[in-house]
Amino acid sequence: MAENRSFVSTLTGSFSTPAADNPTVAMVEAAYRALGLDARYLNCDVQPDDLGNAVRGARAMGWVGFNCSLPHKVAVVEHLDRLAGSARVIGAVNCVVRQGQELVGENTDGQGFVRSLRTVVDPAGASMVLFGAGGAARAIAVESALAGVQEITVVNRDPGRGSALVDLVSSATPARARQVVWEGTYAVPDGTAIVVNSTSVGLAPHGEDLIDVDLDSIGPGMLVADLIPNPPETRLLREAADRGAETLDGLGMLVEQGALAIEHWTGAEPDRAVMREVLEEIFGA
Ligand code: NDP
Repeated sequence: MAENRSFVSTLTGSFSTPAADNPTVAMVEAAYRALGLDARYLNCDVQPDDLGNAVRGARAMGWVGFNCSLPHKVAVVEHLDRLAGSARVIGAVNCVVRQGQELVGENTDGQGFVRSLRTVVDPAGASMVLFGAGGAARAIAVESALAGVQEITVVNRDPGRGSALVDLVSSATPARARQVVWEGTYAVPDGTAIVVNSTSVGLAPHGEDLIDVDLDSIGPGMLVADLIPNPPETRLLREAADRGAETLDGLGMLVEQGALAIEHWTGAEPDRAVMREVLEEIFGA
């Protein structure tokens, strides 16, 4: 007699809006298949007013965890039992993990970035220029500082968001932080080891857009990282490589934050190469 399989043992997913075309689904499910897990990752279009009900639904259905995309990363906090480590510092959650009866908020964005960063450079003692002060920048600044980056210059158009991030880094980490209000072309100071674009400039379909930076201030001895996952090779990364800088694309962070989530949910370590391959296929890298 055929086995009656009316449920999957491990349910995970993403609460996002809109839910269209989420490459994370393909990436995580490929990792589950490679691990031989009886697990699914479902993308759910959750409107802001329904977030509480969606979290209660995940609880009721025994999901082992889920990701939250914009605009739910901060709003989800009030529906959880507690926040872990850096999610508490950052004040935003991109990954929820069921531990016993509790739903615990984690933030794997910044940790994923640091893991990706460590594949090319040691952050300890480095100075960093960080373009942008949004949600991703907050996660990256905090985790980079906790990983040993010594000085962070936050370059952002909106001075309020920029100073909020500088205050957060200064109060919650050992790193020094300062703000530059981004008015006109910004020249990266000599001695900067790591340059990060955490703005949305360069995201498809505007892949040729470039942040307002003096490209001639970028050169050998610097690592230029772009968070933009699509296209993986942004114009910023191409221009930086042409000037002798090392580069790091946004796929590494996307893979690592997903791998961390899978580790939280299943206890298994996924194959990053499998995950990256799926993304490269989707984004045509
Ligand atoms: P937010 O909307 O929270 O922040 C966007 C930031 O971009 C703000 O600091 C904003 O500046 C800045 N910005 C937008 N347009 C411009 C512009 N024309 N010139 C200068 N600055 C600009 O977004 P997130 O922080 O969540 O995401 C930022 C990027 O990071 C997105 O492209 C996203 O795809 C990517 N990302 C990648 C991940 C990965 O795993 N690779 C994970 C998470 C995000 P201001 O404050 O002045 O408005």
